[in-house]
Amino acid sequence: MRCIICHGDRIEIMEVKEEVIVGNDIVYVPVKIPVCQTCGERYYDRRTFQFLEDVEEELKAGKRNLREVGKVLVYG
Ligand SMILES: [Zn+2]
Repeated sequence: MRCIICHGDRIEIMEVKEEVIVGNDIVYVPVKIPVCQTCGERYYDRRTFQFLEDVEEELKAGKRNLREVGKVLVYG
């Protein structure tokens, strides 16, 4: 598999934190996906998309307890 952005061949499965936005909050959801080691492009398969959609639904329904790890701030 080659990267469609930079055509590099160093694509490895990595755990990354995907951002899911719920209202004014950002929730980091860890997922394991192929990531291009050269340019950082992330590749999502259908299962991962589905998983993230399910997580978003769950979060919007308030069904999960979350841990605060930082603040999201706006400049200006
Ligand atoms: Zn790349």
